[in-house]
Amino acid sequence: MFESLSERLGGVFDRLTKQGALSAEDVKTALREVRVALLEADVSLPVARQFIKAVEGKATGASVTKSVTPGQQVVKIVHDELIAMLSGDGPADALKIDNPPAPILMVGLQGSGKTTTTAKLAKRLKDREGKRVLMASLDTNRPAAMEQLAILGTQIGVDTLPIVKGENAVQIAKRAKQQATFGGYDVYMLDTAGRLHIDEVLMDEVQAVRDVAQPRETLLVVDGLTGQDAVNVATEFDEKVGVSGVVLTRMDGDGRGGAALSMRAVTGKPIRFVGLGEKMDALETFEAERIAGRILGMGDIVALVERAQETLEKEQAERMAKRFQKGLFNMNDMRGQLEQMLKMGGMQGVMGMMPGMAKYAKQAEEAGLNDKTIQHQIALINSMTKQERANPQLLQASRKKRIAAGAGLEVSELNKLLKMHRQMADSMKKMAKMGKGGMLKQAMK
Ligand code: GDP
Repeated sequence: MFESLSERLGGVFDRLTKQGALSAEDVKTALREVRVALLEADVSLPVARQFIKAVEGKATGASVTKSVTPGQQVVKIVHDELIAMLSGDGPADALKIDNPPAPILMVGLQGSGKTTTTAKLAKRLKDREGKRVLMASLDTNRPAAMEQLAILGTQIGVDTLPIVKGENAVQIAKRAKQQATFGGYDVYMLDTAGRLHIDEVLMDEVQAVRDVAQPRETLLVVDGLTGQDAVNVATEFDEKVGVSGVVLTRMDGDGRGGAALSMRAVTGKPIRFVGLGEKMDALETFEAERIAGRILGMGDIVALVERAQETLEKEQAERMAKRFQKGLFNMNDMRGQLEQMLKMGGMQGVMGMMPGMAKYAKQAEEAGLNDKTIQHQIALINSMTKQERANPQLLQASRKKRIAAGAGLEVSELNKLLKMHRQMADSMKKMAKMGKGGMLKQAMK
Protein backbone atom coordinates (compact mmCIF):
# COMPACT_ATOMS: atom_id res chain seq x y z
CA MET A 1 0.00 0.00 0.00
CA PHE A 2 1.00 3.62 -0.41
CA GLU A 3 3.64 2.73 -2.98
CA SER A 4 2.89 5.56 -5.33
CA LEU A 5 2.63 8.16 -2.58
CA SER A 6 5.81 7.04 -0.89
CA GLU A 7 7.68 6.87 -4.19
CA ARG A 8 6.76 10.41 -5.03
CA LEU A 9 7.59 11.73 -1.62
CA GLY A 10 10.82 9.76 -1.70
CA GLY A 11 11.87 11.55 -4.86
CA VAL A 12 11.14 14.95 -3.37
CA PHE A 13 13.10 14.27 -0.22
CA ASP A 14 16.02 12.59 -1.94
CA ARG A 15 16.71 15.85 -3.65
CA LEU A 16 16.27 17.79 -0.43
CA THR A 17 18.46 15.66 1.78
CA LYS A 18 21.41 15.89 -0.56
CA GLN A 19 21.67 19.61 -0.14
CA GLY A 20 23.64 21.14 2.67
CA ALA A 21 21.80 24.28 3.53
CA LEU A 22 18.18 24.73 2.57
CA SER A 23 16.67 28.02 1.64
CA ALA A 24 13.08 28.93 2.37
CA GLU A 25 12.61 28.66 -1.38
CA ASP A 26 13.83 25.03 -1.39
CA VAL A 27 11.34 24.16 1.32
CA LYS A 28 8.55 25.84 -0.58
CA THR A 29 9.35 24.01 -3.80
CA ALA A 30 9.58 20.68 -2.00
CA LEU A 31 6.31 21.24 -0.23
CA ARG A 32 4.62 22.13 -3.46
CA GLU A 33 5.62 18.69 -4.71
CA VAL A 34 4.46 17.09 -1.50
CA ARG A 35 1.13 18.74 -2.06
CA VAL A 36 0.87 17.33 -5.57
CA ALA A 37 1.80 13.89 -4.23
CA LEU A 38 -0.95 14.13 -1.61
CA LEU A 39 -3.54 15.21 -4.14
CA GLU A 40 -2.53 12.40 -6.47
CA ALA A 41 -3.02 10.00 -3.59
CA ASP A 42 -6.56 11.34 -3.42
CA VAL A 43 -6.15 13.30 -0.24
CA SER A 44 -8.78 16.02 -0.26
CA LEU A 45 -7.61 19.51 -1.13
CA PRO A 46 -8.43 21.18 2.21
CA VAL A 47 -6.63 18.42 4.08
CA ALA A 48 -3.61 18.63 1.80
CA ARG A 49 -3.53 22.40 2.29
CA GLN A 50 -3.79 22.12 6.02
CA PHE A 51 -1.00 19.58 6.03
CA ILE A 52 1.35 21.71 3.95
CA LYS A 53 0.65 24.73 6.08
CA ALA A 54 1.47 22.87 9.27
CA VAL A 55 4.71 21.51 7.84
CA GLU A 56 5.70 24.87 6.42
CA GLY A 57 5.12 26.58 9.75
CA LYS A 58 7.28 24.09 11.57
CA ALA A 59 9.98 23.89 8.92
CA THR A 60 10.38 27.64 8.78
CA GLY A 61 10.62 28.09 12.51
CA ALA A 62 12.69 24.98 13.20
CA SER A 63 16.17 25.39 14.48
CA VAL A 64 18.25 23.00 12.46
CA THR A 65 19.88 20.41 14.61
CA LYS A 66 23.61 19.97 14.25
CA SER A 67 24.74 16.94 12.29
CA VAL A 68 21.64 16.60 10.17
CA THR A 69 20.95 18.46 6.96
CA PRO A 70 17.99 20.80 6.77
CA GLY A 71 16.49 18.43 4.21
CA GLN A 72 16.59 15.60 6.69
CA GLN A 73 15.01 17.86 9.23
CA VAL A 74 12.15 18.56 6.83
CA VAL A 75 11.63 14.82 6.32
CA LYS A 76 11.27 14.43 10.06
CA ILE A 77 8.79 17.27 10.28
CA VAL A 78 6.71 15.76 7.47
CA HIS A 79 6.86 12.40 9.22
CA ASP A 80 5.65 13.82 12.53
CA GLU A 81 2.91 15.74 10.80
CA LEU A 82 1.76 12.60 8.99
CA ILE A 83 1.41 10.90 12.35
CA ALA A 84 -0.49 13.85 13.74
CA MET A 85 -2.82 13.80 10.75
CA LEU A 86 -3.37 10.06 10.93
CA SER A 87 -3.99 9.92 14.63
CA GLY A 88 -5.98 13.09 15.22
CA ASP A 89 -6.33 13.83 18.92
CA GLY A 90 -4.62 10.66 19.90
CA PRO A 91 -4.46 6.96 19.32
CA ALA A 92 -7.76 5.14 19.06
CA ASP A 93 -8.91 3.46 22.25
CA ALA A 94 -9.25 -0.27 22.39
CA LEU A 95 -12.64 -1.65 21.39
CA LYS A 96 -15.20 -1.26 24.15
CA ILE A 97 -16.22 -4.84 24.60
CA ASP A 98 -16.30 -5.36 28.31
CA ASN A 99 -19.72 -6.05 29.91
CA PRO A 100 -20.68 -9.19 28.05
CA PRO A 101 -22.36 -9.69 25.75
CA ALA A 102 -21.08 -6.58 23.98
CA PRO A 103 -22.74 -5.84 20.65
CA ILE A 104 -20.62 -4.67 17.72
CA LEU A 105 -22.53 -3.29 14.76
CA MET A 106 -20.80 -3.65 11.40
CA VAL A 107 -21.96 -1.23 8.71
CA GLY A 108 -20.83 -0.25 5.24
CA LEU A 109 -21.50 -0.42 1.55
CA GLN A 110 -21.91 -3.70 -0.28
CA GLY A 111 -18.60 -5.05 -1.49
CA SER A 112 -16.57 -3.01 0.94
CA GLY A 113 -15.41 -6.17 2.70
CA LYS A 114 -17.87 -5.96 5.59
CA THR A 115 -18.62 -9.66 5.93
CA THR A 116 -14.98 -10.63 5.54
CA THR A 117 -13.97 -8.04 8.12
CA THR A 118 -16.65 -9.22 10.54
CA ALA A 119 -15.15 -12.70 10.43
CA LYS A 120 -11.56 -11.42 10.59
CA LEU A 121 -12.35 -9.36 13.65
CA ALA A 122 -14.23 -12.21 15.31
CA LYS A 123 -11.24 -14.45 14.77
CA ARG A 124 -8.92 -11.83 16.17
CA LEU A 125 -11.04 -11.37 19.29
CA LYS A 126 -11.20 -15.13 19.78
CA ASP A 127 -7.50 -15.83 19.15
CA ARG A 128 -5.91 -12.83 20.78
CA GLU A 129 -8.30 -11.95 23.55
CA GLY A 130 -9.88 -15.31 24.19
CA LYS A 131 -13.36 -13.92 23.64
CA ARG A 132 -16.37 -16.07 22.86
CA VAL A 133 -17.91 -14.44 19.82
CA LEU A 134 -21.25 -14.92 18.08
CA MET A 135 -21.74 -13.57 14.57
CA ALA A 136 -25.08 -12.85 12.94
CA SER A 137 -25.85 -11.75 9.39
CA LEU A 138 -28.75 -9.34 9.05
CA ASP A 139 -28.65 -9.28 5.26
CA THR A 140 -32.12 -10.64 4.63
CA ASN A 141 -32.02 -9.47 1.00
CA ARG A 142 -29.09 -11.63 0.13
CA PRO A 143 -29.29 -15.18 1.43
CA ALA A 144 -25.87 -15.75 -0.12
CA ALA A 145 -24.39 -13.18 2.22
CA MET A 146 -25.87 -14.98 5.24
CA GLU A 147 -24.41 -18.24 4.04
CA GLN A 148 -21.06 -16.62 3.39
CA LEU A 149 -20.85 -15.59 7.04
CA ALA A 150 -21.84 -19.07 8.19
CA ILE A 151 -19.12 -20.61 6.02
CA LEU A 152 -16.51 -18.18 7.32
CA GLY A 153 -17.66 -18.93 10.87
CA THR A 154 -17.06 -22.64 10.41
CA GLN A 155 -13.70 -21.92 8.86
CA ILE A 156 -12.45 -19.82 11.78
CA GLY A 157 -14.25 -21.70 14.54
CA VAL A 158 -16.63 -18.92 15.52
CA ASP A 159 -20.34 -19.55 16.08
CA THR A 160 -22.94 -17.94 13.85
CA LEU A 161 -26.57 -17.38 14.65
CA PRO A 162 -28.67 -20.06 12.92
CA ILE A 163 -30.43 -18.68 9.85
CA VAL A 164 -34.21 -18.49 10.22
CA LYS A 165 -36.08 -17.70 7.01
CA GLY A 166 -38.59 -14.84 7.00
CA GLU A 167 -37.18 -12.80 9.86
CA ASN A 168 -36.38 -9.13 9.40
CA ALA A 169 -33.16 -7.46 10.50
CA VAL A 170 -34.53 -6.20 13.81
CA GLN A 171 -35.87 -9.65 14.69
CA ILE A 172 -32.51 -11.21 13.91
CA ALA A 173 -30.74 -8.60 16.04
CA LYS A 174 -33.04 -9.39 18.97
CA ARG A 175 -32.48 -13.09 18.58
CA ALA A 176 -28.72 -12.56 18.42
CA LYS A 177 -28.87 -10.60 21.65
CA GLN A 178 -30.85 -13.37 23.37
CA GLN A 179 -28.60 -16.12 22.17
CA ALA A 180 -25.51 -14.13 23.13
CA THR A 181 -26.91 -13.51 26.60
CA PHE A 182 -28.07 -17.04 27.32
CA GLY A 183 -25.19 -18.66 25.50
CA GLY A 184 -22.61 -16.82 27.60
CA TYR A 185 -20.92 -15.02 24.70
CA ASP A 186 -18.60 -12.08 25.35
CA VAL A 187 -19.29 -10.33 22.08
CA TYR A 188 -21.90 -10.55 19.35
CA MET A 189 -21.34 -9.02 15.98
CA LEU A 190 -24.16 -7.85 13.75
CA ASP A 191 -23.22 -7.85 10.07
CA THR A 192 -25.81 -5.49 8.60
CA ALA A 193 -27.09 -5.59 5.04
CA GLY A 194 -24.77 -4.02 2.54
CA ARG A 195 -25.99 -1.41 0.17
CA LEU A 196 -24.62 -0.28 -3.14
CA HIS A 197 -24.84 3.34 -2.16
CA ILE A 198 -26.35 5.29 0.68
CA ASP A 199 -30.03 4.44 0.56
CA GLU A 200 -32.73 5.74 2.89
CA VAL A 201 -34.62 2.48 3.38
CA LEU A 202 -31.56 0.54 4.35
CA MET A 203 -30.30 3.39 6.55
CA ASP A 204 -33.61 3.31 8.40
CA GLU A 205 -33.11 -0.39 8.90
CA VAL A 206 -29.63 0.12 10.34
CA GLN A 207 -31.00 2.78 12.66
CA ALA A 208 -33.71 0.43 13.87
CA VAL A 209 -31.15 -2.32 14.48
CA ARG A 210 -28.92 0.15 16.28
CA ASP A 211 -31.78 1.20 18.55
CA VAL A 212 -32.53 -2.41 19.46
CA ALA A 213 -28.94 -3.57 19.84
CA GLN A 214 -27.45 -0.44 21.42
CA PRO A 215 -24.02 -1.35 20.07
CA ARG A 216 -20.91 -0.63 22.12
CA GLU A 217 -19.06 -0.14 18.86
CA THR A 218 -20.35 0.72 15.42
CA LEU A 219 -17.59 -0.05 12.96
CA LEU A 220 -17.81 1.26 9.45
CA VAL A 221 -16.06 -0.85 6.85
CA VAL A 222 -14.87 1.12 3.82
CA ASP A 223 -12.86 0.18 0.79
CA GLY A 224 -9.51 1.94 1.12
CA LEU A 225 -9.06 1.94 -2.64
CA THR A 226 -11.92 4.36 -3.13
CA GLY A 227 -9.98 7.30 -1.74
CA GLN A 228 -12.04 10.38 -1.17
CA ASP A 229 -15.27 8.42 -1.71
CA ALA A 230 -14.43 6.36 1.35
CA VAL A 231 -14.23 9.57 3.34
CA ASN A 232 -17.58 10.78 2.00
CA VAL A 233 -19.21 7.45 2.82
CA ALA A 234 -17.82 7.69 6.36
CA THR A 235 -19.19 11.19 6.80
CA GLU A 236 -22.65 10.09 5.68
CA PHE A 237 -22.76 6.96 7.78
CA ASP A 238 -21.63 8.90 10.78
CA GLU A 239 -24.38 11.45 10.32
CA LYS A 240 -27.07 8.80 9.87
CA VAL A 241 -26.14 6.06 12.31
CA GLY A 242 -23.18 7.33 14.30
CA VAL A 243 -19.88 5.55 13.82
CA SER A 244 -17.34 4.79 16.54
CA GLY A 245 -14.53 3.69 14.29
CA VAL A 246 -13.50 2.88 10.75
CA VAL A 247 -11.96 -0.20 9.16
CA LEU A 248 -10.14 0.46 5.89
CA THR A 249 -10.00 -2.62 3.70
CA ARG A 250 -7.88 -3.47 0.65
CA MET A 251 -4.92 -1.58 1.98
CA ASP A 252 -2.84 -4.42 0.52
CA GLY A 253 -3.65 -3.17 -2.97
CA ASP A 254 -1.53 -0.54 -4.65
CA GLY A 255 -3.96 2.06 -3.49
CA ARG A 256 -3.07 5.64 -3.30
CA GLY A 257 -3.53 5.74 0.43
CA GLY A 258 -5.35 9.02 0.47
CA ALA A 259 -8.34 7.63 2.35
CA ALA A 260 -6.20 6.82 5.36
CA LEU A 261 -4.74 10.30 5.37
CA SER A 262 -8.00 12.21 5.05
CA MET A 263 -10.22 9.96 7.14
CA ARG A 264 -9.30 11.21 10.57
CA ALA A 265 -8.89 14.82 9.51
CA VAL A 266 -12.27 14.99 7.76
CA THR A 267 -14.49 12.70 9.83
CA GLY A 268 -12.76 12.91 13.18
CA LYS A 269 -13.30 9.16 13.46
CA PRO A 270 -10.40 6.91 14.35
CA ILE A 271 -9.29 4.20 11.94
CA ARG A 272 -9.36 1.09 14.11
CA PHE A 273 -8.11 -1.59 11.73
CA VAL A 274 -6.79 -2.02 8.24
CA GLY A 275 -7.57 -5.00 6.03
CA LEU A 276 -4.52 -6.32 4.22
CA GLY A 277 -5.81 -9.21 2.18
CA GLU A 278 -8.50 -11.81 1.75
CA LYS A 279 -7.12 -14.25 4.32
CA MET A 280 -8.77 -14.41 7.71
CA ASP A 281 -5.73 -13.10 9.58
CA ALA A 282 -5.10 -10.20 7.20
CA LEU A 283 -6.33 -7.58 9.64
CA GLU A 284 -4.02 -5.27 11.53
CA THR A 285 -4.71 -2.69 14.17
CA PHE A 286 -4.17 0.75 12.77
CA GLU A 287 -1.00 2.39 14.02
CA ALA A 288 -0.31 5.89 12.83
CA GLU A 289 3.46 5.56 13.29
CA ARG A 290 3.70 2.46 11.22
CA ILE A 291 1.52 3.84 8.45
CA ALA A 292 3.41 7.14 8.42
CA GLY A 293 6.62 5.16 8.17
CA ARG A 294 5.28 3.22 5.21
CA ILE A 295 4.03 6.30 3.44
CA LEU A 296 7.32 8.07 3.79
CA GLY A 297 9.60 5.05 3.70
CA MET A 298 12.36 7.02 5.35
CA GLY A 299 12.78 5.42 8.71
CA ASP A 300 16.56 5.92 8.65
CA ILE A 301 16.37 9.65 8.30
CA VAL A 302 13.68 9.94 10.95
CA ALA A 303 15.78 7.93 13.39
CA LEU A 304 18.86 9.97 12.55
CA VAL A 305 17.10 13.25 13.28
CA GLU A 306 15.65 11.88 16.48
CA ARG A 307 19.09 10.86 17.68
CA ALA A 308 20.55 14.23 16.77
CA GLN A 309 17.77 15.97 18.63
CA GLU A 310 18.41 13.87 21.70
CA THR A 311 22.09 14.76 21.59
CA LEU A 312 21.26 18.41 21.25
CA GLU A 313 18.90 18.27 24.19
CA LYS A 314 21.53 16.55 26.26
CA GLU A 315 24.02 19.26 25.39
CA GLN A 316 21.52 21.94 26.30
CA ALA A 317 20.76 20.25 29.60
CA GLU A 318 24.47 20.05 30.40
CA ARG A 319 24.98 23.68 29.51
CA MET A 320 22.10 24.62 31.74
CA ALA A 321 23.38 22.52 34.61
CA LYS A 322 26.71 24.34 34.40
CA ARG A 323 24.96 27.69 34.62
CA PHE A 324 22.95 26.57 37.61
CA GLN A 325 26.11 25.45 39.35
CA LYS A 326 27.32 28.99 39.09
CA GLY A 327 24.05 30.27 40.47
CA LEU A 328 23.03 31.77 37.14
CA PHE A 329 19.37 31.71 36.19
CA ASN A 330 18.04 34.25 33.73
CA MET A 331 14.89 34.29 31.63
CA ASN A 332 16.44 32.09 28.96
CA ASP A 333 17.04 29.45 31.60
CA MET A 334 13.53 29.94 32.85
CA ARG A 335 12.16 29.45 29.36
CA GLY A 336 14.21 26.30 28.95
CA GLN A 337 12.73 24.95 32.16
CA LEU A 338 9.20 25.86 31.15
CA GLU A 339 9.63 24.21 27.76
CA GLN A 340 10.91 21.08 29.42
CA MET A 341 7.89 21.06 31.67
CA LEU A 342 5.51 21.22 28.75
CA LYS A 343 7.35 18.41 27.07
CA MET A 344 7.39 16.18 30.10
CA GLY A 345 3.76 16.91 30.74
CA GLY A 346 4.03 18.29 34.21
CA MET A 347 5.82 20.37 36.74
CA GLN A 348 7.01 17.55 38.93
CA GLY A 349 8.92 15.98 36.08
CA VAL A 350 11.71 18.46 35.59
CA MET A 351 11.74 20.65 38.62
CA GLY A 352 11.24 17.72 40.90
CA MET A 353 14.49 16.30 39.63
CA MET A 354 16.44 19.39 40.55
CA PRO A 355 17.38 19.70 44.17
CA GLY A 356 15.52 22.49 45.88
CA MET A 357 13.12 22.85 43.01
CA ALA A 358 10.60 20.29 44.16
CA LYS A 359 9.23 22.91 46.54
CA TYR A 360 8.54 25.30 43.68
CA ALA A 361 7.04 22.59 41.58
CA LYS A 362 4.54 22.03 44.30
CA GLN A 363 3.84 25.72 44.82
CA ALA A 364 3.48 26.29 41.13
CA GLU A 365 1.02 23.49 40.80
CA GLU A 366 -0.98 24.82 43.65
CA ALA A 367 -0.93 28.25 42.06
CA GLY A 368 -2.62 26.74 39.03
CA LEU A 369 0.37 26.49 36.74
CA ASN A 370 -0.82 24.20 33.98
CA ASP A 371 0.03 23.70 30.31
CA LYS A 372 -1.88 26.80 29.32
CA THR A 373 -0.33 29.10 31.89
CA ILE A 374 3.09 27.68 31.07
CA GLN A 375 2.48 28.54 27.43
CA HIS A 376 1.52 32.05 28.50
CA GLN A 377 4.75 32.38 30.45
CA ILE A 378 6.77 31.23 27.48
CA ALA A 379 4.92 33.75 25.31
CA LEU A 380 5.79 36.48 27.81
CA ILE A 381 9.46 35.54 27.77
CA ASN A 382 9.42 35.45 23.96
CA SER A 383 8.02 38.95 24.01
CA MET A 384 11.08 40.26 25.88
CA THR A 385 14.16 41.63 24.16
CA LYS A 386 17.42 39.75 24.28
CA GLN A 387 18.78 42.06 26.94
CA GLU A 388 15.67 41.79 29.04
CA ARG A 389 15.86 38.03 28.97
CA ALA A 390 19.49 38.08 30.03
CA ASN A 391 18.83 40.66 32.66
CA PRO A 392 15.25 40.68 33.96
CA GLN A 393 16.05 43.40 36.50
CA LEU A 394 15.64 45.83 33.61
CA LEU A 395 11.90 45.32 33.65
CA GLN A 396 10.21 48.53 34.76
CA ALA A 397 6.57 49.52 34.28
CA SER A 398 6.74 50.64 30.65
CA ARG A 399 8.72 47.63 29.54
CA LYS A 400 6.32 45.38 31.39
CA LYS A 401 3.38 46.91 29.59
CA ARG A 402 5.04 46.42 26.23
CA ILE A 403 5.95 42.81 26.96
CA ALA A 404 2.48 41.89 28.24
CA ALA A 405 0.83 43.56 25.24
CA GLY A 406 3.23 41.78 22.90
CA ALA A 407 2.11 38.45 24.30
CA GLY A 408 -1.53 39.51 24.40
CA LEU A 409 -1.61 39.06 28.18
CA GLU A 410 -2.04 41.09 31.38
CA VAL A 411 0.81 42.70 33.29
CA SER A 412 -0.36 40.79 36.35
CA GLU A 413 0.59 37.54 34.60
CA LEU A 414 4.01 38.94 33.85
CA ASN A 415 4.39 39.90 37.51
CA LYS A 416 3.61 36.34 38.52
CA LEU A 417 6.24 35.08 36.13
CA LEU A 418 8.81 37.55 37.48
CA LYS A 419 8.06 36.53 41.04
CA MET A 420 8.49 32.90 40.23
CA HIS A 421 11.71 33.65 38.41
CA ARG A 422 13.07 35.62 41.36
CA GLN A 423 12.35 32.82 43.76
CA MET A 424 13.97 30.25 41.53
CA ALA A 425 16.99 32.46 40.87
CA ASP A 426 17.43 33.01 44.62
CA SER A 427 17.38 29.30 45.27
CA MET A 428 19.95 28.78 42.56
CA LYS A 429 22.25 31.34 44.13
CA LYS A 430 21.85 29.88 47.58
CA MET A 431 22.55 26.42 46.38
CA ALA A 432 25.59 27.52 44.43
CA LYS A 433 26.89 29.24 47.57
CA MET A 434 26.26 26.23 49.72
CA GLY A 435 29.58 25.10 48.57
CA LYS A 436 31.56 23.46 45.95
CA GLY A 437 30.87 20.01 47.31
CA GLY A 438 27.28 20.98 47.97
CA MET A 439 24.09 19.34 47.15
CA LEU A 440 23.64 20.75 43.68
CA LYS A 441 27.06 19.77 42.55
CA GLN A 442 26.49 16.26 43.76
CA ALA A 443 23.23 16.11 41.96
CA MET A 444 24.70 17.36 38.72
CA LYS A 445 27.35 14.69 38.57
P1 GDP B 1 -19.30 -7.14 1.75
O1 GDP B 1 -20.24 -7.16 0.58
O2 GDP B 1 -19.03 -5.76 2.21
O3 GDP B 1 -19.72 -8.03 2.85
O4 GDP B 1 -17.91 -7.65 1.17
P2 GDP B 1 -17.18 -9.03 1.34
O5 GDP B 1 -16.77 -9.24 2.74
O6 GDP B 1 -18.02 -10.09 0.71
O7 GDP B 1 -15.87 -8.78 0.49
C1 GDP B 1 -15.86 -8.56 -0.89
C2 GDP B 1 -14.54 -9.06 -1.47
O8 GDP B 1 -13.45 -8.29 -1.00
C3 GDP B 1 -14.23 -10.48 -1.08
O9 GDP B 1 -13.71 -11.15 -2.21
C4 GDP B 1 -13.13 -10.35 -0.04
O10 GDP B 1 -12.28 -11.47 0.00
C5 GDP B 1 -12.43 -9.11 -0.48
N1 GDP B 1 -11.75 -8.41 0.62
C6 GDP B 1 -12.25 -8.02 1.81
N2 GDP B 1 -11.33 -7.37 2.54
C7 GDP B 1 -10.19 -7.35 1.80
C8 GDP B 1 -8.86 -6.80 2.01
O11 GDP B 1 -8.52 -6.20 3.04
N3 GDP B 1 -7.98 -6.98 1.00
C9 GDP B 1 -8.30 -7.64 -0.16
N4 GDP B 1 -7.37 -7.77 -1.11
N5 GDP B 1 -9.53 -8.14 -0.38
C10 GDP B 1 -10.46 -8.01 0.58
